[in-house]
Parts: sequence; structure tokens; C-alpha cells
Amino acid sequence: MTTDTRSLYSQLPATDRLLRDAAFASLLENHGHSQVVEQLRQLQDEARLAIRNTSALPGWSDDWAGEVARRFTRDTQRAIRPVINLTGTVLHTNLGRAQQAEAAIAAVTQVMRDPVTLEYDLDGAGRGHRDRALADLLCRLTGAEDACIVNNNAAAVLLMLAATASGKEVVVSRGELVEIGGAFRIPDVMRQAGCELHEVGTTNRTHAKDYRQAVNENTGLLMKVHTSNYSIEGFTKTVEEAELAEIGRELDIPVVADLGSGSLVDLSQYGLPKEPMPQEMIAAGVSLVSFSGDKLLGGPQAGIIVGKKAMIAQLQQHPLKRALRADKMTLAALEATLRLYLHPERLTADLPTLRLLNRRADEIHAQAERLRETLMQRYGDEFSVTVMECASQIGSGSLPVDRLPSAAITFTPKDGRGSRLESLANRWRSLPVPVIGRIYDGRLWLDLRCLEDESRFLEMLLK
Ligand SMILES: *Cc1c(COP(=O)(O)O)cnc(C)c1O
Repeated sequence: MTTDTRSLYSQLPATDRLLRDAAFASLLENHGHSQVVEQLRQLQDEARLAIRNTSALPGWSDDWAGEVARRFTRDTQRAIRPVINLTGTVLHTNLGRAQQAEAAIAAVTQVMRDPVTLEYDLDGAGRGHRDRALADLLCRLTGAEDACIVNNNAAAVLLMLAATASGKEVVVSRGELVEIGGAFRIPDVMRQAGCELHEVGTTNRTHAKDYRQAVNENTGLLMKVHTSNYSIEGFTKTVEEAELAEIGRELDIPVVADLGSGSLVDLSQYGLPKEPMPQEMIAAGVSLVSFSGDKLLGGPQAGIIVGKKAMIAQLQQHPLKRALRADKMTLAALEATLRLYLHPERLTADLPTLRLLNRRADEIHAQAERLRETLMQRYGDEFSVTVMECASQIGSGSLPVDRLPSAAITFTPKDGRGSRLESLANRWRSLPVPVIGRIYDGRLWLDLRCLEDESRFLEMLLK
């Protein structure tokens, strides 16, 4: 050991001296003696390690109390916490998909706090099951006879298959053998549900006669799966749900449809790509239709199945329903979200998903120009800060080829070093409310489509 390092070791303060320091009073008050001592022990170890490896004290060693406070803040930071989503993908699965409507937030808060009428019937009429109230609402909105709610649409598909076609064949077009992501692939779900997949047609073309010829005495269902995340173009042919329902009626075989996202309103009225609507499928005679709660519907994560009374009863009675049922918070948020659809004129104001998707490019552009001025002052030395046109994506459950014109503030390193982009993105990711953008084409892009709370955004970026 050199004299230098020996003198460094001697500069390490003793734990009990630190604890007597006035700066530690509030730490002891807030976190208690044992946790503070534990943190200090950890810091002492790190400091000794730093001396051994670098022959220097760590940077924080002139402020032990400050470092302990920082460690407590870091350790108590929640794993799931808010971020500012400027990726340009509105329904971002990794960022929790739909932002909930205020009405849904209020409803969830209330059922968390108080006992509720989840399966309790105030008029003594015998409610049956926890989905009853929502089923009535869903019937009103879709024209279906009954409904069933589970935890997500993947669960909905599994339950539909297991409860109505276990041990039987399910006919699906080869063009619709979808992989959604994770391990959710139609052929695998089929197997899990105890069904036998009967593929028909080809990747690009499937005809009515393919379905007819596939039917035999062991056929349980004809199934349509919405090709949410890809598109087959060129020489193609598919059999629409309405036509398949006709075939199903003729051959006396139920038709089910997994819509993925689906939408209860016609999105083309807002200039958005039209998504299949559950009410249209029901009107066309499809027996069961499933869709997600947190995609375009804009509610909580849930799987919704609407359809024929007798088949919904099969789902409600299946043991898997008990395993997949939604909890009171989900049901409360979903009910509040669905109620917004009773007043469709207000949807683009009250439902965040539609409000964000409906924002006009020129409005976003003006916002970007305005914010650029402020950000220039902070970042203008190192980066050229410019407003660029860009294209947002709807995200989970809409064609990736459908883009919405938008505007971004972009940051390009003046010295041309790409590593500056990475370190800027990293810095923003470690903010108290992380700001998440996208790096491509030599720039860091902040697509402002989803930026509603400007003051929090500026507070973070001007830190
Ligand atoms: C998204 C999707 C699912 C899965 O829905 P989750 O609610 O994410 O479980 C299933 N099928 C299709 C066609 C989808 O697009």
C-alpha cells in the first residue's frame, strides 16, 4: 500500500460519526436507523473498492448524506412508472397501450377503495356472473345477444376455442395463421385449446369452396382471424366474415372471428384506416366475435367476446373462464370506457386513444415549432434542433402500413458523432419521468403526436 492510498483510506469517515452529522437527521427520521446504516455500509464498501482499483475516492465522497439520499430515491423508484411516449406509436404495447379515459380512472379508483356490487345483486334478481352489467352494455353497443369478458384477447381466443370446439376441427385460412407476438400463434393456441387446426386455401388466396370442402362430421367451427400486423397484397382472395357466416348457416356450423383490435366506431369518419367493427360482424351473423379492450377501444387490458346467447353460456360455464376472468378494476374501467361510446360525439375529446389518433398534423407541427424555440436554448450548442414531418403508427392491432402524418422535433449532433445520440437518449431515459423517442437516420426523433402535457415535458428536458 502506498502512502497515498493509505491516506485515502484514512479519509473515509466512520459510520457513527456520519450518523451524528446534522445532514443525516432527516434521513434517519424518514428511513430509520437500520436502513441508513445498511446504505452507509454499502457506500463504505464501494469507496474502499474505488481506492483499491482507481487510487481515488469516488466522486460522491464529499457528500455522504447526499449520496445516501440519492440511493434511497433510486431504490424506492417504482418499477412501473410514467414515461412520456414520443415514439410515434400511439398504442405501444411495451408502454402499456391505451391511456385510460378520466371516467375510467375515476371508476377504478372508486372500486379499489370501496366494496362493490361485483357479483352482488341489490334487487335480489340473481345477477348470475360478474360480466352481467357489462354484457348488457356490450349488447346495446354491438347488437349481440350476450357477452363475456376475460383478461385479454389472447385469453378470449383460447376460451372461445376450448369451450366450443375442443376435440373438434377448426377451419382457418392459411393466410390467417397469425403470430401476434410473444408465443401467441394461432396453430399453438388451437393445440392448447384441444382443437385440431384444419388449414384451407393458400397464403394469398382462399375461396368459399375451400371452407365448404373442409367441412366434415368432426368440424366444430369456421374461424376468421384478422391479420392485424401484416398485409398480403397482390393476387389475393379472402372470404369475408359475412360470406363465411352464410356458409356456416347453410352447413349448420358456427363461425367465430378474432378481430384483434376491432373498433366500436367507424374510424374512417376521422380519416383513419377503417378497422373491422364487432357490430358489423354480429349483424352479418358471426356467432362469436372477440376483440381487445386496450387496443383501439381505448380501455383497460381485457378480452371481450360478444355473440350468441347459447355459445356465450358455454364460455361462462367453462372452467377456463374462472381462470381467465377479469378483476373488478378491469371491469370498472371497461364499463366506464364503454359508456363513453354511448355518446360518440364526445369520443374524440373524452377517449385519449381517439383524441391522440385524431390530432391533425398541422396542429402537431405548430406545437413542435413552438417547443423547438425553448429546446434550442438548452440543446442548440451540441445539436441542430429541427422540426421534421414524420409518420405516427397506431400500434398494436392496426396495419403497420397505415401511417398518420405527424411532426417531430429532431436532434442531430453537430459534430456528427452517433454516440451523442445514444447518450442523449440514455440521459432522457433516466429522467424522473423518462422521455422516450426514437433514433433513426442519424437523428433522435420526438414525435409529438402523444404530447399533451407540455409543462411536464419541458420540465424534464430543461433539467
Ligand atoms: C392483438 C391481437 C390478439 C391478442 O390480443 P391481446 O389483447 O393483446 O391479448 C389476438 N388476435 C389478434 C388478431 C390480435 O391482433
